[in-house]
Amino acid sequence: MRWGLIGASNIAASHMIGAMRATGGDVVSVLSSSPERAQSYAQEHGISEGHGDLDALLSGDIDAVYISTTNEKHFPQAMAAIAAGKHVLCEKPLAMTVADAVTMVRAAEDAGLVFATNHHLRNAGSHLAIRDLIASGRIGEVLSARVMHAVHLPPHLQGWRIDNPEAGGGVIPDIVVHDADTVRFHMGEDPFEVVAIQTSAGMGEGVEDSVMSVWQMPSGATVMTHESFTHRYAGTGIEFHGVKGSIRATGVMTQRPTGHVTLITDAGEEDVPFADHNLYERSVGLFTDAVAGKGAPSADGIDGIKSLAVASAVAKAATSGARVAVDYGGV
Ligand code: NDP
Repeated sequence: MRWGLIGASNIAASHMIGAMRATGGDVVSVLSSSPERAQSYAQEHGISEGHGDLDALLSGDIDAVYISTTNEKHFPQAMAAIAAGKHVLCEKPLAMTVADAVTMVRAAEDAGLVFATNHHLRNAGSHLAIRDLIASGRIGEVLSARVMHAVHLPPHLQGWRIDNPEAGGGVIPDIVVHDADTVRFHMGEDPFEVVAIQTSAGMGEGVEDSVMSVWQMPSGATVMTHESFTHRYAGTGIEFHGVKGSIRATGVMTQRPTGHVTLITDAGEEDVPFADHNLYERSVGLFTDAVAGKGAPSADGIDGIKSLAVASAVAKAATSGARVAVDYGGV
């Protein structure tokens, strides 16, 4: 797989370039809005071509693009990549609106291209183990879920995320999308209605830096979530409570979600073992296989649309104070 990077980003440098190379890919080119930064980023990461122009990158000898620019750029850049016949691995949230996300995903489908969303958590050994427990009936019918995803945003990520709503800043587009994807992955159903309250408690300027929400699932189960940029010591976790048992997982909502998974039933508490592979490599590997005609990406375009739809409903509920139906844009 010959990759072009759209966005000279932190996530590409810290996780994705390594994952592309570990899965046999060649990182050919990188795009930055500044040609000088494109060159220096290319040099620093051993990439042959640095471009300041999207058409120049897309006309190069690449099979796929990885889009990790700020969120408002994902839509036009994905549409251009699809028009140029490139497969697309796109960062979350896919776009600023559900309608744009649907347009991107449909365009890739119509062009016969693979389109995937880089939701990392469903690739983690801990989450694969949790899903197996739920799918195999170990906790019975699920009554509720709780998601604890209140973290402290490290200083090097505090740029556009905390002060630029036009670039898609705020904790809702940043973290609620991941939680929506993770809950959908485990429960196999999509929330249809949400309520939410958001705050801006010290970090966000013009955007929310914390939110709590409650989601109603078609099965009757309820989900409560807490996402934040301002909680230094809260820790992360996810819980599923069923009629026959509960799953309590701690330290599993980060970029290295290798904490603990515990199953609690009438038989007592048991530690659940899970694989400790690199989750970004799994995401890139499944995407690469899908391009080669084998299987499907771990999170496809529809998954990206749906996680954005839930986050958009949470944002609407938090600003209006109303109970909001999730609009999945017809997918
Ligand atoms: P960054 O802030 O690192 O990069 C976003 C853009 O900001 C880049 O495309 C670049 O613009 C510009 N930029 C970055 N560093 C500099 C710099 N030193 N000087 C000037 N400009 C700079 O974003 P992230 O990597 O944190 O996030 C990118 C995307 O990835 C987002 O959509 C985010 O939601 C997603 N993400 C996903 C994660 C996951 O696990 N799935 C984890 C983290 C982020 P230009 O390209 O024009 O040079």
